[in-house]
Amino acid sequence: MEEPAATVGVLALQGDVLEHEAAFADVGVVTRRVRRPADLGGIDGLVLPGGESTTLSMLLESSGLFEPIAKSITRGLPVLGTCAGLILLAARVEDGRGDQRTFSALDCAVRRNGYGPQRFSFEGVAEPVGDVLDDVGPLPAVFIRAPLVTEVWGGAEVLATESSQGPGGETAPVVLRQGHVLGVTFHPELTGDRRLHRLFAQMAGRAERAPAGTPARLATGSFEHRPAGEPAPARR
Ligand code: GLN
Repeated sequence: MEEPAATVGVLALQGDVLEHEAAFADVGVVTRRVRRPADLGGIDGLVLPGGESTTLSMLLESSGLFEPIAKSITRGLPVLGTCAGLILLAARVEDGRGDQRTFSALDCAVRRNGYGPQRFSFEGVAEPVGDVLDDVGPLPAVFIRAPLVTEVWGGAEVLATESSQGPGGETAPVVLRQGHVLGVTFHPELTGDRRLHRLFAQMAGRAERAPAGTPARLATGSFEHRPAGEPAPARR
């Protein structure tokens, strides 16, 4: 008998929900929107999409989702956080709001909007570190008022870095994994490169294996490129 596909929950309080759903459909994973605690039942993984981490933190509290998600992560539910989602997973947030909460599941410090106003949004590349993501070279990476990872310690493993766009031109980690937790500072759902969604599908346990060497390509249309210095849309 064929094994049923993994079901990944996508936190649907704010942010890039549709884009993650489409990306998971591409790798054969069924998704379910998570808006209330009852929606967490029976999922094999959970995605915390990009958006605005301060708003997401408040909505997680008001929806009653914060505590059950925190418990599920502690119990080993695989979780993927992209951009604001990674901020929600980080152990320490710099330039956050005083009442902003995180699940503290990734041993790292992040600075909100850490790439500075002149580089709030840019398209760069993420260089794989080691061989977890390295089947076809660098990943296209769309950064939208992205958090800058300023420190990594303990159990967090760097799977990819980005060079030259940090405030001081430094190399910064942009993909981190700690056991069942995957954090990405950019928006993999906005490009056609499905390596990160495929990796997460594997972490969630029941992934379809795509042929190796699927070429990376940047999506057109879903990401509106803004020249450096222009403010990002308010919802981010
Ligand atoms: N700057 C946002 C925050 O601090 C994150 C932006 C994003 O998710 N695209 O939460």
